[in-house]
Amino acid sequence: MAKCPYCEKPVILKGFDSEKKDEVRREVYGFIKKEVMYSCPHCERVLGFGSFFGGLITGRPR
Ligand SMILES: [Zn+2]
Repeated sequence: MAKCPYCEKPVILKGFDSEKKDEVRREVYGFIKKEVMYSCPHCERVLGFGSFFGGLITGRPR
């Protein structure tokens, strides 16, 4: 399990199980080239950014 570098509480990147409260928040911006912002669910600090291609190209909804 990962820890938030700011508040050192456990965070998980994807909600595979019922621990939704520890799930890293994932906000997606953009239409074709998606920008993703990950933030800590406890202290709300930004953990990182990522990007992927979605939408029209791959059919991924988000
Ligand atoms: Zn935190």
